[in-house]
Amino acid sequence: MGNCIFCKIAAKEIPSTIVYEDEHVVAFRDLNPQAPEHILIIPRKHIARIETLTESDTELMGRLVFAAKRIADDLKLKNGYRLIFNNGADSGQEVEHIHLHLMGGRKFSWPAG
Ligand code: AMP
Repeated sequence: MGNCIFCKIAAKEIPSTIVYEDEHVVAFRDLNPQAPEHILIIPRKHIARIETLTESDTELMGRLVFAAKRIADDLKLKNGYRLIFNNGADSGQEVEHIHLHLMGGRKFSWPAG
């Protein structure tokens, strides 16, 4: 999508630290990390948020989670990690391109803030 910052990262039109990519998915380090390891995993396809998913996106969404598994393995996050989709205004979603936060390397509290 024309003005989407995450589409531009996926297309390498703006720089990022990519840690994983394949035909469907790109994962890169968050610019403002909230944990020692903080990775954003996105579909190459522009999907603004969960409400705009269609059933044909189900495999793609599974690919985000499987990419998280691979990256967590690579980063040796053996003590666990947190996966988060912020979705919509109340969640604090800032970027309107679906992204899975993978955060690890510290303990997290529950319930999330
Ligand atoms: P969210 O609040 O779930 O929409 O998260 C958006 C995330 O994108 C935030 O954690 C930002 O720090 C991160 N972010 C915004 N711009 C960039 C960028 N150019 N490169 C990497 N991370 C970014």
